[in-house]
Amino acid sequence: MHFTETVYRNPYWPTFPLLQVTQGCTHNACKFCTMYKDVPFRLQPREWIEEDLQELARLVPEARTIQLLSANPLVMSYDKLAPILELIHRYLPKMETIYTVGRVTDLRNKSVEQLKSLKELGMSEVSLGVESGDNWTLERINKGYGSQDILDQCHKLEEAGIDYWMTFLNGVAGREHSEEHAIHSAEIFSQCRPMVVGTGGLTLFPGTPLLEEAQRGEFTPLSEKEMLEELKTFVEHLTCDCAFITHHTVAANLTGPDFLKRKGDIVTALEHAIHNGDMDRLSAIRRNKRTL
Ligand code: SF4
Repeated sequence: MHFTETVYRNPYWPTFPLLQVTQGCTHNACKFCTMYKDVPFRLQPREWIEEDLQELARLVPEARTIQLLSANPLVMSYDKLAPILELIHRYLPKMETIYTVGRVTDLRNKSVEQLKSLKELGMSEVSLGVESGDNWTLERINKGYGSQDILDQCHKLEEAGIDYWMTFLNGVAGREHSEEHAIHSAEIFSQCRPMVVGTGGLTLFPGTPLLEEAQRGEFTPLSEKEMLEELKTFVEHLTCDCAFITHHTVAANLTGPDFLKRKGDIVTALEHAIHNGDMDRLSAIRRNKRTL
């Protein structure tokens, strides 16, 4: 297989084949991310994709799901993406669900009709690294889009019948804007119909502009307790009927379906963690994290 860089596999999907179709990230400028810093964006050579599919056809001929790599394969135009999906079916004829990650802006170059066609070709699930619905925060972390883009593009996915995940990055607005980040994100997410809302906590990795800003005193990271408080505010304001996933170590058992039915329990569990959690342990776990 031609894996040329850091592989991010959605840990909430079962192990299944991965197929790299692009390299790097078209944006490569979010202030908290170094994942693809040294990898210029390019399309994976067509012959590599075909060779990988030939290998998968030998190894997992019955495969029904597959995840496309790398950072944002979704950015490919319809004319480039559709033939790759067709190629997948040629080599893996049992294929049902083609899952890909992407940026909100990756959807701008596709019409609803084109998205419907991609869905017919199996692309029925997409994960968007949204991170925030708060315009101040989105600009602060250089995501490259605003809250209206999130609404516009997510509504296109809904019209096309494509399921999607949205992520909320807990802590990324710093102490200065924590409450607005939580509330405005929940408000924007709640105007969408995501299948899953996932939350992860900010870790300041070496080499990120956000860490440098923190070292210069221009960004104040949240304490572990403040992270939990922000997550609780986000949950309290979120009204989507979705599955809810949290990477937050203390709240890992809060992951599951039927968010609205479980919302009260999640808030109670977060309150308990805020008052009784071992914050030193949480800090130590975060310090030892090496990637997003
Ligand atoms: S967070 Fe995602 S979009 Fe932003 S630079 Fe990293 S890989 Fe690219």
